[in-house]
Amino acid sequence: MALVIAMLTALAACNYAEEPVNNSKAEEKIIYTDYHMHIQSKPMADVLIAITGSDTFSGNQLEEFSAETIIALLDEAGLDRAFILSEAYILGNDLIAGPDEYNDVKKENNYLAIQCARYPERLIGFFGVNPLKEYAIEEVDRCYDELKLPGFKLHFANSNVDLNNPEHLAKIQELFAHCAEKGIPVLLHFRNDNPEFGKKDAEILINEVIAKTPGLKLQIVHLGGPGGFDNATEEVISTFIEGYEKNKSLDKSNIVSDISGVVVTENEKIEGILDSTTEEQHKRIADYIRAWGIENTVFGSDWPYSTPASYINNIKRLLPLNEDEIEKILSNDTSIRLFGSSEIRHPDLEELLETLKEGIDYNAPFSVKLDE
Ligand SMILES: [Zn+2]
Repeated sequence: MALVIAMLTALAACNYAEEPVNNSKAEEKIIYTDYHMHIQSKPMADVLIAITGSDTFSGNQLEEFSAETIIALLDEAGLDRAFILSEAYILGNDLIAGPDEYNDVKKENNYLAIQCARYPERLIGFFGVNPLKEYAIEEVDRCYDELKLPGFKLHFANSNVDLNNPEHLAKIQELFAHCAEKGIPVLLHFRNDNPEFGKKDAEILINEVIAKTPGLKLQIVHLGGPGGFDNATEEVISTFIEGYEKNKSLDKSNIVSDISGVVVTENEKIEGILDSTTEEQHKRIADYIRAWGIENTVFGSDWPYSTPASYINNIKRLLPLNEDEIEKILSNDTSIRLFGSSEIRHPDLEELLETLKEGIDYNAPFSVKLDE
């Protein structure tokens, strides 16, 4: 189950930032964004509880994370808005996918759309799909065209995607080309569970996917790793730094990396899965961020790994970056780069309720197989 647990990040004990980000300081409006927060319906929380065998994670309750949960966390941290990520791809994981798999996936993405529609100025929704499923493109189109969700989140570990497998590579090339054509930014948890994962995978992603997909907009999560800072994370981020330096035809304005989940304290570590990061690693993380480019780096808390307030506090305290660099990361606005406009599409609540079939019960359990 490691692959599912790796996806389900630790819930940090509350460790709130003493100084929230100050929005009013600057004359012109600076927008502070958390670029990586998970949202989940009650039945989705129940799936995660069943998988982990516990209704708490790091001492915190696993429960519905609605728009209100997210908004309260943003307010606490002094942030304006967030990229909120559907976990619907988990429902397409072969270990648990049920007889009504595609309906389960749709329902969780619908839930995301409804939550976003209630706070259109603050919640930017990324739908989730297992990219290897035959319904992947159909669901991307439904979420983008009908639900009006602006972005696509995928998770190579949870969906068992390995770019060394030619069939997987072909599917990802097709899907990403489709997203690039439609202007859908892709938020990618790149690290899979293959122990060999590293430099070679990053080279395939750069040379066989990104270089061959002009216009593709990408956010690579956790600096290319799984969360924490292991050797493979360093191989991926350094391969990206070198790859973009060498190949000037690659457009660096089309790619950003988020630093969610990278810094791990005693609060977030998971025994045997995720170690806390060391002072030496914090120095290397800061060096990689500078080499990759502060303008190509965005903040993310990976809630429920950490609250945004707590993670802001941790990166300010632990990463040897100066105040100015931290401020740039926290205030980096990638709207125009990722969406082509500062006006980001969002679902309209009335339209949405018309589009979606009436009578969907968002509290009914999914058809997943969890007995074992
Ligand atoms: Zn995440």
